[in-house]
Amino acid sequence: MKKKYKKIILILIYFLSPIPVFLIFYSLTPSKPYHTPLRLVADFMAITAYIWLIYQFILTSRLKFVDRNFGMDKIIHFHIIMSVIAIQLAITKAIIFLFIRENDITQIGSGVNAAVQFIILMILGVIYLRGPGVKKKNIRYDAAKFVHNFTIFSASYIFLHVILSNSAYESIFLIIIFTAFYLMALGFWLNFKVIRRLKIKRAPYEIVDVKNEAGTYWTLSFKSKLGNVFEYAPGQYCYISIISQNLSKEFHPFSFSSSPIKKDIISVTIKELGDYTNDIGKVNVGDIAYIEGPYGIINSLDSNTEEIIFIAGGSGITPFLSTLRYMRDTNDTRKTTLLWGVRFPYEIFLKEEFEKMVEINPNLKVFPVVSNDDNWEGERGYIDRDKLDRLAPCENPGRAIQKKDYYICGPPLMIKSVLPALKSMGVNKKKYIHIEKFYR
Ligand SMILES: Cc1cc2nc3c(=O)[nH]c(=O)nc-3n(C[C@H](O)[C@H](O)[C@H](O)COP(=O)(O)OP(=O)(O)OC[C@H]3O[C@@H](n4cnc5c(N)ncnc54)[C@H](O)[C@@H]3O)c2cc1C
Repeated sequence: MKKKYKKIILILIYFLSPIPVFLIFYSLTPSKPYHTPLRLVADFMAITAYIWLIYQFILTSRLKFVDRNFGMDKIIHFHIIMSVIAIQLAITKAIIFLFIRENDITQIGSGVNAAVQFIILMILGVIYLRGPGVKKKNIRYDAAKFVHNFTIFSASYIFLHVILSNSAYESIFLIIIFTAFYLMALGFWLNFKVIRRLKIKRAPYEIVDVKNEAGTYWTLSFKSKLGNVFEYAPGQYCYISIISQNLSKEFHPFSFSSSPIKKDIISVTIKELGDYTNDIGKVNVGDIAYIEGPYGIINSLDSNTEEIIFIAGGSGITPFLSTLRYMRDTNDTRKTTLLWGVRFPYEIFLKEEFEKMVEINPNLKVFPVVSNDDNWEGERGYIDRDKLDRLAPCENPGRAIQKKDYYICGPPLMIKSVLPALKSMGVNKKKYIHIEKFYR
């Protein structure tokens, strides 16, 4: 089935599934007198809130088919918005019930309790998913993430609240339906947190090289202890946990920087940036690592435009590095332009490798853009409209069919300035601009 149709079906299931459950609820609860319009609206809200909260455990369990269809960054944003909407529906339902004096006080109490728990865990979740908040509030990412894991206990509490509600215990069939949804959440959570982790641990990797590329950039290479590494496409990423006395064990996402043509080694190139990555250079050859992947849906080599444009900021070079290496290894000489924004000239690591690539492929152009060195003889400043117009102009502005695909990867500020620049040049955002965010 075409990806577009699969997406539509998944979205329809997500949004419409509360309706059949509500209809079953409506036909099965025999005490019809309480089926007043206001009460029915409140019940529909409650059922929708419950089902949508359950779905959050599926969305966030890193399912490959969900990633393939939507991309993990979009899913995480959707998850944040939908959790808030679900909680709001539950709170509105509670207010309506208070207003029509429907529930007994214990039930209202347990509902309020469950909602409060969820809200606290959600706030922590938002703190951990939103980069800047973590720093300002001085809460470590891994600590906030750990606490966010407890949402499964709040979900269990909400489940009890739901099946003990008057309307549910009037029908065993309703209890079965609500239990099935809860077990689904629990199943996905257990699979993600326990079963998959055990599977990943059965296929360990070993660090075979630790190389300082330049300044704060490190390349780590891994070999599978079981033979070949898993297959991945250039531009994809994985989650890595390294067992080293100098690092915590949590999984972090990193793009592959190696060429997928290499079947025995995976490399990632990491910039020192915070609590975890600041110590990345302290890992040792021989340290064990666990790698989960591949993830990511952006493969620029699927492009069928006349030219591909890569726009990287700092460590955002890594997915393009993997792609350019793969193009070199497969003699792919299609027209390609790379604009790479760095702060200082010394951050342009692998200069010789890039120069060789340009030698082999006359259709490849590489432009480092240096922001913090007035003596730099190449492009200076930030990647802006002027540079894009000169180095990677849009040839059919505003048209539905265009000749170039633009791929962007970098820090939030860079994406925030490059995206409007491309749009103002007339690049069709929906079809020809592709973004990989290194932040969630
Ligand atoms: C799809 C993707 C691909 C990436 N590829 C690369 C790459 O190739 N090279 C590179 O240098 N960086 C890459 N990153 C960024 C890298 O994952 C973060 O810089 C790193 O996890 C920051 O951790 P920290 O503790 O050092 O920084 P902190 O300063 O503690 O955290 C900074 C921010 O990084 C994010 N973050 C921290 N820990 C985690 C975690 N365990 N899981 C998810 N996000 C986290 C959060 O948004 C956090 O607020 C990628 C990120 C994503 C999402």
